[in-house]
Amino acid sequence: MNINDCRNIWVFVETEHGQVKNVALELINEGKKLAHTVGEELIAIVIGHKMENVVQTVISYGADQVILVDGAEYQDYTTDAYTNAFTKLIKIHQPSAVLVGATINGRDLAPRIACRMGTGLTADCTGLEISPEGEVTWTRPAMGGNLMANIICPNTRPQMGTVRPGVFKRGTSDKDRTANIIREEISTPEKEIRTKLRDFIHVAGIAGVKIEEADIIVSGGLGIGKAENFMLLQELASALGGAVAASRAAVDEGWISPLQQVGQTGKTVGPKLYIACGISGAIQHVAGMSSSDFVVAINKDPEARIFDIADFGIVGDLFEIVPLLTDEIRKRKK
Ligand code: FAD
Repeated sequence: MNINDCRNIWVFVETEHGQVKNVALELINEGKKLAHTVGEELIAIVIGHKMENVVQTVISYGADQVILVDGAEYQDYTTDAYTNAFTKLIKIHQPSAVLVGATINGRDLAPRIACRMGTGLTADCTGLEISPEGEVTWTRPAMGGNLMANIICPNTRPQMGTVRPGVFKRGTSDKDRTANIIREEISTPEKEIRTKLRDFIHVAGIAGVKIEEADIIVSGGLGIGKAENFMLLQELASALGGAVAASRAAVDEGWISPLQQVGQTGKTVGPKLYIACGISGAIQHVAGMSSSDFVVAINKDPEARIFDIADFGIVGDLFEIVPLLTDEIRKRKK
């Protein structure tokens, strides 16, 4: 594709059971800022079946336009069908940049598209900027999180990147917003789809909520001491209506599932409230939670680095403080 013919920033709208994933709304908000900086538009790409609600949601969250591919073969995500539809859309509309959530499906789809298009992809970004010429600088941790790499894609289009959920904030919804919807007829023959969805197995955090979707997270580190003690955190999380997460050290001990790990090699989260219990605040952990709105740290070491980034710090023994907090919250809820 000729670079000069390419314009607009696209966001892949990932859905699950007909619901838009938070990361897509976060990318719409951030991608729109980039697009408007260079006088272009943010276009949401919706692929699926019977997606009218999804289209309305992404418009209400700020998409300037929507391109919709509707077909029964897109009901559930498959690499083959979505890659086929997406690459055809790129060839027709020639976007300048494509943002995809760094989720399991996003990490599967984006490299496949980049390879088909012969363009570059920066994975797992935590920062985005754009030059007046429309060149995106993709920032991501490198060398074990000790430095940040700024990556550009000067010679090919579209510029592509996956961005971690929770890094950016979604905008506010305006149900009265309207936007142009372009419907593209692209079908993928069944014989070209090599995987079949047999069943969905719901996976949730131990408090019943996925950490990447949670507004409140209670997180435990090595200071928790043993697996059974995570029950204390689960009780606090349940009282608050939140999810339980962990540092890698706690995961490595086998106390909690790797699905709950926050950090550079775990998940990036951006809840309204993050309560860190017995977590020292290593750079690799902070990389996954620093965009939380409000951080409370409970640690018996007053010198712990987690206090450097906490909005509210409690120096003390978590085994005394966490049950007190849980009781107090339960009392106030009555
Ligand atoms: P520690 O550093 O041992 O801290 C435990 C804390 O608990 C201490 O501050 C202590 O004062 C406190 N404490 C103990 N008992 C109590 C008590 N009773 N009450 C209150 N406080 C108490 N780490 C991650 O978390 N996520 C990642 O994704 C990640 N990725 C990594 C990638 C690489 C390449 C590398 C090299 C490391 C990575 N790490 C990651 C590991 C990271 O460097 C730290 O080792 C880890 O985060 C430490 O976990 P922690 O804070 O639970 O344990």
